[in-house]
Amino acid sequence: MSLFASVELAPRDPILGLNEQFNADTNPAKVNLGVGVYTDENGKLPLLACVAAAEKQLVDAHKARGYLPIDGIAAYDKAVQGLVFGADSDVVTQGRVATIQALGGTGGLKVGADFLKRLRPDAKVLISDPSWENHRALFTNAGFAVEQYPYYDAATRGVAFDAMIAKLAASPAGTIVVLHACCHNPTGVDLSSEQWDKVIATIKQHGLVPFVDMAYQGFGFGIAEDGAAVRQFLAAGLDFFVSTSFSKSFSLYGERVGALSVVCSSKDEASRVLSQLKIVIRTNYSNPPTHGAQIVATVLTTPALRAQWEGELAGMRERIKRMRGALVDQLTNAGVKGDLSYIVKQNGMFSYSGLSATQMQRLRSEFGVYGVDSGRICVAALNDGNLAYVAKAIAAVSA
Ligand code: PMP
Repeated sequence: MSLFASVELAPRDPILGLNEQFNADTNPAKVNLGVGVYTDENGKLPLLACVAAAEKQLVDAHKARGYLPIDGIAAYDKAVQGLVFGADSDVVTQGRVATIQALGGTGGLKVGADFLKRLRPDAKVLISDPSWENHRALFTNAGFAVEQYPYYDAATRGVAFDAMIAKLAASPAGTIVVLHACCHNPTGVDLSSEQWDKVIATIKQHGLVPFVDMAYQGFGFGIAEDGAAVRQFLAAGLDFFVSTSFSKSFSLYGERVGALSVVCSSKDEASRVLSQLKIVIRTNYSNPPTHGAQIVATVLTTPALRAQWEGELAGMRERIKRMRGALVDQLTNAGVKGDLSYIVKQNGMFSYSGLSATQMQRLRSEFGVYGVDSGRICVAALNDGNLAYVAKAIAAVSA
């Protein structure tokens, strides 16, 4: 009997599996709207000019590659704190935030999950219904029981807010609540500022543990605007977790650049929390890689590059918004009836189309248009060259 005889074949990842299917598709008109990746007007993954400039500086410097500290590059961690909380915020100036460089946003979530499992082994984790597919798997694999709180209301294409609050209010103290800071994945539907206030008050009243996932800062309305919910948590005086991803905002998907920040009640607490985060890291992958974080730290701390980045980020954000408007026009031209204004109201990379799994499968098999079976399509992968084709395909399966 071989050692692996009983190993079962795991299902393909729902989104990365789609990519494999897309790559194998021979339809010349195929369009990949599955994975959350921004492509430019030519359908190409951009290399930002600020990234190229920072990279050139780094390559020209021919630096040796020693191990980084377990928690990553100090200047990087500091720059992350500035972006997420504001460099002048009390929590940062008082040293109350423990920040570590992580392997993408996913790595930040996982380091936080592993730390929380030691701190609160019996806590439940609540994720939004629906949520990014990997939230459930990641927290389940960290050993938690994962449940959902109501979030998206298909009837109104908005937030099922009363039901969401009711679920939070009925959860035992210590329950970990994963929240999307902005550009909710997959729905594109975010909480309003007033709704955040109510969510935060409920979390505070019931002693819940907030874990804010910020994977799209700058893709909704702007860097500060998209960080507003984090500032509201700060104003409430809560201890909380924030994971950061630069995959999208720097178009550095493959470099795995992200972070985890834990806001604590005192500087002393933050240093103890940091020491525990370092144990999680040390026993998983020892210390993080240099290249991507050096690029991000260089861009964020060099005023000219930082300004260039903000401009390029705004360019991506505005192009997505333009594509949302153009998609509505093209769908209307293709004969799709009804109120399509939800497409322009949704934020970030995705649109939750409301198409059924069967319709999404038809889009793939008949048209080579790849979206997720939940009906999620990546509007950041639309461009003037594929838009009319995609709209006609959607109209055909909607008829
Ligand atoms: N959280 C959410 C909500 C995401 O959409 C993503 C990326 N798809 C991540 C986390 C992970 O980001 P990264 O690719 O940097 O690990």
